[in-house]
Amino acid sequence: MLDSNSVKTEKIYYADAYAVHFTANVISAGDNDLVLDRTAFFPEEGGQSPDKGVIAGIPVVDVQIRDGYIHHILDVPEGEKMPAEGDCVSGSIDWAHRFSNMQQHSGEHIFSGLVHSEFGFDNVGFHLSDREVTMDFNGVFPEGGLSMIERKANEAIWSNVETQISFLEGREAREAVYRSKLELTGAVRVVTIPGIDACACCAPHVRRTGEIGCLVVVGAINYKGGTRVNILCGRRAMELFAREHMLLTRTANFLTTSVDNVPESTMRLKNENTSLAAALKNASIAVMEMKAAALPAGEYDACLFEKNELTGKVMQETVNRMTEKISGYCGLFCGNDEDGYRFVVGSRAKNAQEMAKKLKEEFGARGGGRPEMVQGSVHAAERRIRELFD
Ligand SMILES: [Zn+2]
Repeated sequence: MLDSNSVKTEKIYYADAYAVHFTANVISAGDNDLVLDRTAFFPEEGGQSPDKGVIAGIPVVDVQIRDGYIHHILDVPEGEKMPAEGDCVSGSIDWAHRFSNMQQHSGEHIFSGLVHSEFGFDNVGFHLSDREVTMDFNGVFPEGGLSMIERKANEAIWSNVETQISFLEGREAREAVYRSKLELTGAVRVVTIPGIDACACCAPHVRRTGEIGCLVVVGAINYKGGTRVNILCGRRAMELFAREHMLLTRTANFLTTSVDNVPESTMRLKNENTSLAAALKNASIAVMEMKAAALPAGEYDACLFEKNELTGKVMQETVNRMTEKISGYCGLFCGNDEDGYRFVVGSRAKNAQEMAKKLKEEFGARGGGRPEMVQGSVHAAERRIRELFD
């Protein structure tokens, strides 16, 4: 892996994380790949997704470190020309996107620093995409541990302390205490949040912690013997709150209750649904028993059609009832001509698989089973199906 310290492109975001517009000279230009002598674009590095924006009016869709330089991948519109080597170009990063990443990343440092000082766990994996912020810690949190860290992280955010960036070299770097995932060579860039954390890091950070706004833990699972934690900060936390609040309010409105009562109302609805389903099942068993009882006993093929939804179990029980007194094929078809039918066919004297075969040959039915009983689905008119049972 290329050490970010050895990159030859001047990183404007190192000196000024708030630089949005900049000018630079083109060092090399491919079909869609542009290398500049300096850039404000943060490349994909250290688990963080790259900046977006424009250079010379052309959208930048990816930024990568390759061969010791930062490469900007451009989405060149048809008819538009790429800048040429030696040109002076101006560029701008997408500030809303960048600032959101700064909020997430600075929030992550506070969170990981607190986890380290409170529980001694290391952050062994960090991922900051445009959708989520994931941290892997090499330890399992005790009950209430994560909410305690969340509360302390927000207190650190609201204390609004100034973040400090320093470059340490040689003995100074060896003796300083900071968190780091890699063995670093050359000057080490250390991001310090006084009283909370010091961590080797290549990314842009907010000037003061207050700019992070807030931090929420949105998920935690056991992962590889440790814990994978998802957080959201600032704008993303606000967007999550707005979306979830809207969904909850809509749900409360459906249920004609208050937001606070949504869990109880939903549980009540679920219980009612369970008992209604049981009552409906009993009612449909009773109806089907009556229909089966109304058929005369004898040696003939019989079939019943039912428009109401029946469970597979009720269908099988009804067909069993029919085969007790009718010796031919006993079929039950549930559904309608338009949407098709689910069927169960049984017989004590005949082979029900033969009927399944006929239904397949005539109407392309699906399904199968044993000689005593088959089940499946078929798309055909009731009138045509009845012909097979005559
Ligand atoms: Zn970092």
